[in-house]
Amino acid sequence: MQEFYRDTWAEIDLDAIAYNVKQIKRIHPTKSLFVVVKANGYGHGDVEVSKVAIEAGANCLAVSGLDEALRLRQSGIEVPILVLGMTRLKDVPLAARHNISLTAHDKMWINQLVQLPLKEKIKVHLKVDSGMHRLGLMDSDQVKECYEDLCRASMVEIEGIFTHMATADCDSEYLDYQIRQFRHLIKELDLTGVKYVHLENTATLLQKEFQFDHGIRLGLGLYGINPDEDFIPISFDLKPALKLFSNVVQVKKIKKGDKVGYGATYEASEDEWIGVVPIGYADGWIRLHQGRNVIVNGVECEIVGRVCMDQMMIRLPNPIPMGTVVTLIGEGMPVERVAREIGTISYEILCLISDRVPRVYK
Ligand code: PLP
Repeated sequence: MQEFYRDTWAEIDLDAIAYNVKQIKRIHPTKSLFVVVKANGYGHGDVEVSKVAIEAGANCLAVSGLDEALRLRQSGIEVPILVLGMTRLKDVPLAARHNISLTAHDKMWINQLVQLPLKEKIKVHLKVDSGMHRLGLMDSDQVKECYEDLCRASMVEIEGIFTHMATADCDSEYLDYQIRQFRHLIKELDLTGVKYVHLENTATLLQKEFQFDHGIRLGLGLYGINPDEDFIPISFDLKPALKLFSNVVQVKKIKKGDKVGYGATYEASEDEWIGVVPIGYADGWIRLHQGRNVIVNGVECEIVGRVCMDQMMIRLPNPIPMGTVVTLIGEGMPVERVAREIGTISYEILCLISDRVPRVYK
């Protein structure tokens, strides 16, 4: 384990990652499972998570950019890796050298790709925009034309074709529309030999079964989180893999009327015990957490005053020893609740946990 010298850490349960992979594989036994490990594995550690996920049955990895893919290759990972974002054309030879598959997302990009003097074959997944209007080709003629151009290019292998869903966690009607649109956009293509047709992210694969796709892209579910439990009730469990802890580093009694933190935004309404916790917005624990609770000895304690760059203060019901553990994410404080209380999503809370926070694997 990597040494660290501070009182804040994220604990990552790699058995939970393996468990989640197996749960999804049980439901989709015939499909190739791409685990999405972009953004340092949603904050959990991309290399560690990838290795465990592969051992548990994941077939491929998906990342956002070439840098992330190269990092995984450099760690000795050999399974297929797909870059979901745009890759600069000048970097295509590097991707080919490391057997990294790229997303072909745009007509002009594809026109230039097929003219590159490549020494090694590049694998691509054609990205179709079925309604999210982020990356991808929107028009069926354009999809067909680009697909045929890619088929003709001797140094290009079309390994996959895919789309991404915008509303799988909140609007079934639009999800159904996108699925119809995807079918429509690819219906004239001869997909013989294309290994992966894939459209499912976590929210989609937890609720729908598609006969025609061969790949699924599991992001948030890999980390044990359902994007929206109310919208997507599931009959099996996923295990959250990340907990975030800190230790109280000072305890002090303040008097009624005393103020706390930058801007003196909190005033004690009576004599109060205050604990100083060494986590702040430079760790990804942003100022919006002011007024929310953390857990100390099983009791919810309010974050009082502004969250600083490196520290924050909490109100304690009674004095506690220095070094007492504070749970910011974990038992009694699931990341879904943390996210909801500051008006965001679990994805963002996890990705915000900065590199400065040591990851402890168990
Ligand atoms: N596919 C693409 C193209 C994505 O951008 C993402 C995540 O943002 C995923 C799959 C994984 O999504 P989720 O984490 O909801 O499973």
